[in-house]
Amino acid sequence: MSSALFDLVLLWSPHESETDYPELQNLLKTEFSNQFNIHLFTQTQDAIKHVESKSNSSLPVIVITKLGMTDESLGEPLIEIIRHRNKSTFIILHSHKVCADPNLRWYFAELGVNMITEYVTQIRDVFQRLLPLGQSHPKPTYTCPYCKWTSLSFSQLYTHVPLYHTNEGAMSIKCELCQQSTRNYAVHLHEEHDQEHRQGPKATPLYAFALVVCQRKRDNRFLVVQESGSMGFWLPGGRVEVGEQLDKAAERETLEEAGVRIRITGVLKIEFTPRSDINRLRIIYFAEPLDEDNCEPKTVPDYESYGAMWLTYEQTVQCSTKGQLRGNEPLKWFKYVTQNGAIHPLSILSKTEL
Ligand SMILES: [Zn+2]
Ligand SMILES: [Zn+2]
Repeated sequence: MSSALFDLVLLWSPHESETDYPELQNLLKTEFSNQFNIHLFTQTQDAIKHVESKSNSSLPVIVITKLGMTDESLGEPLIEIIRHRNKSTFIILHSHKVCADPNLRWYFAELGVNMITEYVTQIRDVFQRLLPLGQSHPKPTYTCPYCKWTSLSFSQLYTHVPLYHTNEGAMSIKCELCQQSTRNYAVHLHEEHDQEHRQGPKATPLYAFALVVCQRKRDNRFLVVQESGSMGFWLPGGRVEVGEQLDKAAERETLEEAGVRIRITGVLKIEFTPRSDINRLRIIYFAEPLDEDNCEPKTVPDYESYGAMWLTYEQTVQCSTKGQLRGNEPLKWFKYVTQNGAIHPLSILSKTEL
């Protein structure tokens, strides 16, 4: 008695895809000859007869078929008959033609083909994922709500559902594990029951900050905020509020902290820093005062800042040596702009998804 885990039905006339056929046969012979009971067919009717003779208690079945070049070797009638009988047979359609045509791909996906491919290497990959499904496991076991495959361990169910049923139309499924109803069981298993996945947060909080390098044309001075608490001079800017556009946040923060209305003209840098607790996004904008004749910095202290001022690059260097900057970013950016570093157009930051 063999220890095969799956029945493999192959409907493929030898003269179709002449290079792929030997490659597939070689793969079956060298790597999977023990795990599969292999049945080769060149005629559709013979393959159908074989499939129909199988009872439900037989080994699970994998079928590989081609579109077929002659009336005798068409794959479509075989696919239809299998799908009419059950959803638990894994059907692979190997076809260069179908893989190149979205209408054909759509058609066969709707017909219930589980995998449409033109790569023998990916058939090998799916074999390796299918094989553990053929092994039996101690309890507790679960039943697939789509195809009624019974006695699956959790890890088998977790592998099986997306592999076999990811293209099934949305139907309400009651989860056997938690009794909740769901319309996407594969995602539900992944998000609610996969231990590894459950450790982390479902969505990563994103903290976004907009900072501004604002230069006045008439004397090339840069706007800096004198941060409260004697923290030092710093670029105007701050945290983007919920529902707020990045550029609006930059304009608002510059007005609040430095008292100057600005016109943003470009982007210096976009920074994204993933961390264990949050992800951080920072945009460094380039801007000019909205009105050069009315751009007095704020000098009345409030909770936003102690005040603000326009600094030359040279003054910024001196502040840096004296430890009067909150960090080295003002110096770095003022130098970059003074040396004519590239300023990117605002169009690289879109406000909508299309
Ligand atoms: Zn199933
Ligand atoms: Zn559940």
